[in-house]
Amino acid sequence: MSESREWLVQWLRDAHAMEEQAETMLNGQVNRIENYPELSERIRQHIQETRQQAARLETCLDRIGQGSSTLKDAGGKLTAMAQSLSGVFAGDEVMKGSLASYTFEHMEIASYTILIAAAKSLGEAEVAQVCEENLREEVAMADWLKSHIPATTEQFLARADSESENAKR
Ligand code: MG
Ligand code: FE
Repeated sequence: MSESREWLVQWLRDAHAMEEQAETMLNGQVNRIENYPELSERIRQHIQETRQQAARLETCLDRIGQGSSTLKDAGGKLTAMAQSLSGVFAGDEVMKGSLASYTFEHMEIASYTILIAAAKSLGEAEVAQVCEENLREEVAMADWLKSHIPATTEQFLARADSESENAKR
């Protein structure tokens, strides 16, 4: 395989590890959030999307002939677990979670933008199409977070004075 194609394969594997990390992080968040139902619901939806994204990447790797059987990324999952717990002791975990999610979606957007350009330049139209599908879901999630973070912040602050236990998560 040419070196340029090896890079495409490597980046598909990296994206797969990223999606596994995303799933762990989002699960960690949704399991702890209690008082922000709209946010919980959107995260649940994105967990489903994230699983499909990982599965789509596996089909890409199989298609290119690189198999997807050796793709478990334990390191990323550990990092994700730590991220999802980062706000627990700070008392504002719903806000720390929002920060982490919004940042993570943009890392995903950058990754798929790179993959789409790489796939196109190597003539892998189907890989490019799959990555465009994943990219659309990441952009939609990032947009949703952007438009809902102000309301989450307002709710958090409104509760902080009177019911701070409910504000946190
Ligand atoms: Mg994703
Ligand atoms: Fe995402």
